[in-house]
Formats: sequence, C-alpha cells, structure tokens
Amino acid sequence: MSKGLTSRSEDYSQWYNELVTKADLAEHSSVRGCMVIKPYGYSIWEKIQGVLDQKFKDTGHSNAYFPLFIPKSFFSKEASHVDGFATECAVVTHYRLKNDGNGNIIVDEDAKLEEELIVRPTSETIIWNTYKGWIQSYRDLPLLINQWANVVRWEMRTRLFLRTTEFLWQEGHTAHATSDEAVAEAEQMLEVYADFAENWMAMPVIKGKKTANERFAGALDTLCIEALMQDGKALQAGTSHFLGQNFAKAFDVKFTSKEGKQEHVWATSWGVSTRLMGALIMAHSDDQGLVLPPKLAPIQVVIVPIYKGDEELAKISEAVNLITTALKAKGISFKYDNRDTQRPGFKFAEYELKGVPIRLAIGGRDLESNTIEVARRDTRTKETLSRDGIADAIENLLEEIQTSIYNKAHTFRTEMTTKVDSYEEFKKVLNEKGGFIAAHWDGTSETEARIKEETKATIRCIPLDNALEDGVCMVTGKPSTQRVIFALAY
Ligand code: AMP
Repeated sequence: MSKGLTSRSEDYSQWYNELVTKADLAEHSSVRGCMVIKPYGYSIWEKIQGVLDQKFKDTGHSNAYFPLFIPKSFFSKEASHVDGFATECAVVTHYRLKNDGNGNIIVDEDAKLEEELIVRPTSETIIWNTYKGWIQSYRDLPLLINQWANVVRWEMRTRLFLRTTEFLWQEGHTAHATSDEAVAEAEQMLEVYADFAENWMAMPVIKGKKTANERFAGALDTLCIEALMQDGKALQAGTSHFLGQNFAKAFDVKFTSKEGKQEHVWATSWGVSTRLMGALIMAHSDDQGLVLPPKLAPIQVVIVPIYKGDEELAKISEAVNLITTALKAKGISFKYDNRDTQRPGFKFAEYELKGVPIRLAIGGRDLESNTIEVARRDTRTKETLSRDGIADAIENLLEEIQTSIYNKAHTFRTEMTTKVDSYEEFKKVLNEKGGFIAAHWDGTSETEARIKEETKATIRCIPLDNALEDGVCMVTGKPSTQRVIFALAY
C-alpha cells in the first residue's frame, strides 16, 4: 500500500491530485491538459450518466449524435458565440501526413483543407445548422435533443476533472415555438441538475442566474448551479442557457406558426461535464480518501473475509453467499474480496481510499456468533451486527449514509456563507474564511470587474430564490435591491 494522502489542511490542492490518482480515478496523459479516466473513475461517471440520461428521457428528451468537427464558417455565424470561444479552439487544417524522404513524418501541405474545421468546444452551431432541415412548422416543435460527447476547449490552466482540455459531457439543445416555452425548458433542466446534485451527489447547490459578464457566449440568460468545495472555493457544476433566437437567426431556422406566420425558433442549451466528478470528490472526501454517496458508488458494499486456512474460508464464503444473495435481491451492489494475495488490513485501506460506503468483515468468531462487523466509510465507525436481517440493515444504512453526507455538506455550506455589508469586511472574510459571501452590488459590469480585479472573487450567481432587500452596493454605495453570491472559484 502506498503511503497515505497529504492532508487537506496541509495542502488542499495536493490532496486532491493525490486522491484522484491514488484512488485510481484518473491520471494525467502524455497530452497536455488531457486526462486518462481509469476504470474505477469511469464506472462512477457511468453511474452519473445513467441517472442523468434517465432524467433527460423522463422529461421528454431523446439522444442523438452530431459531428466532432465544425466548419469555421458555421462557427463564425453567431458573433458573440465565436467571440467567446475563439481563444480556446483547436483547429484542423490538414488531412494527411507524408514522409519527407529523410525519414521524418511531416504535414502534407498539398493536403490542406479548403475550409478549416474546429474541433467542437460546444455544438450549438453544427446543431442549429442541422435543425434548419428539421424544422418547418409548429408541428415540428418542440425539438428536445441531447448529445453525450467529448468536447475540446484549449484551457491554459488545467486540473484533473475540474478543467481539462478535452472533457466528456452531455449537451442538450432544444428548439421551441415561443420564448416562454424555451425559458421554461431552461428552468426545468436547471431543476433536473439541482435535483441530481442534491439527491444523488449529496451536494447542496445554489440555483441562480449568471451576470452578463459570466454568461455563456451567445446566450440571453445563463442559469447555473453553484456548489461549495471543502476549501471554501465555489465550483460551477452545471449550466442551462436561454439562447433566445440568436442561433435561429444566425442559421435562418424559421417555422410556420399556427397562424401561418413565419417566425424564428427559440432555443436552449444545457450541459454538465466530467467536472461533476471533481465536484463529487471535493465535496465529501477526507484525509483517508474518497467518500462516495451510496447512490453513485459503483460498489456499495465490500465484504472482506478474515480467515486462517482454506477450511475456514470455505465456511465464511458459505455465510457470505447468503448475504450477497439477499443484497442482490435488493439491487445493492457488492464485491466479495476473497483474494488471498492481500491481507485484510491492506484491503481495508484500499476500500477506504476508494470510498466504498460500507465494509463488512467476517471472521471465525462471527461464524460462531452469527454476527458480522459493519463499518461506515463516511463516519469511519464500526459496529457488530447480527447476520439475521443484515440485508435490511445494510439497505437502511446506505440510505442513512446518503442523507448524512448531504447534511454534513449542507451544514458546512451554511457555516461558510457570510453576509457582509462593507467592502472591507468582504475582503477580510474572503481572505480569512472564504466560502460564499452574500453582498449588495450595484448591478453594473464595471463594479463586478473591479471587485474581480482587486480580490479575484467573482459573482457566482444571483440566486433564483433571492429575497428582495433594500441596501447599498458595498463598493460604490449605489442602491441595490438584493444580495448576490460572491466567491473565489475553480
Ligand atoms: P458551458 O457550455 O460553458 O456552459 O459549460 C457546460 C458545462 O461544462 C458546465 O457544467 C461547465 O462546468 C463544464 N465545463 C466547462 N469547461 C470545462 C472544462 N474545461 N473541463 C470540464 N468541464 C468544463
């Protein structure tokens, strides 16, 4: 077993990097900014995908797939969109290599593309170019499509899962007959994300609206969910955009309304990415390793036999068989680790590092007394229980862990949310405590930019459930009607 992790208090960022690699979630690849997602990490991503995919289908969406490459001319059609993404685009210019005669492989200049292709950083343009052929009448609407894909954004500062050059995500792209319908769709998908974050990831989030500065390039409104990590920094965990008619106009997508009029279509797009893996890791894990919410843990229960000799192992395995049959019937995932190549202590540490929510250990004495040792990963507490009705006990315990992890994160967020009324106090809280800071702001981009420049803090969102409250901007003293949420962010 490799030595333990750096502690969070010692160096949070080092702790995170070590955890991701030691728990076998992902590693840096030889390609700058791109990661390899390892089988254990990928199995968590598959759980995330599975739950979200069902939620998308339950809300009427279908999956489809669009090309990885976007012709530069498409990309340039929506002015603010291209402005926002131009600095992070990977561009394909040639389609062939050749041997230069000296044994060097070089780009074949004769194979230059007539039009450069952009590796998609997001797919609005290729999709709206396609929708033009799919939408003619109000009967074709709404069009509710999702795509699971990889995208590339040439990020300068990358971190495993949180910000990578290539990442996996889903992107929903919907088309509607009215502005109201599109707004309702964007709101609905934000609710889906928030529900997933809170009830599956056990991670409380603030639902809000981005300011104009932080809006998606090409959107009229960007809704988001913001989560707080254990180091007091915020993480934007998902976005849902109301795109107005911007893309319909850029790609000339019109429909004939019920009244027989030609109108431009209204749009939304929404996405979450492998960044959610980073959020999941950072929200709950501790100095011993990963803490996974049971609903997303690939293995919910691990069973470790503690035995002397083959005969005892055979008896233990028989007893375990009864337990696993009962777990299977309840749909609880498990692993019986009877490897004889590792000692129990090694296995305990390994599953602790990997965040398996419940560990069962069973030895010779348990055989006689009809008991089993049950250890919780989140609290690191253990108790010895009777094996009668053990599957029921485990089922209840998994639910309790799920709730308890959420409550812990929620308490942390409450403690780390501070109301401030002066800029001095704001800077003090930001430096000494961190977390979410609720403060009055005059609503201008200038003041927002000044605060960012002076403190690095950004407005994470204007919460959707905000109470109106008369106040004055902490920087300019101008009137304000509500507090917004500031934080240092990933
Ligand atoms: P956007 O299209 O910019 O609204 O982003 C959609 C989703 O992708 C959001 O949930 C972001 O948190 C996430 N995201 C954006 N950039 C990256 C990146 N470089 N690595 C991982 N996730 C990202």
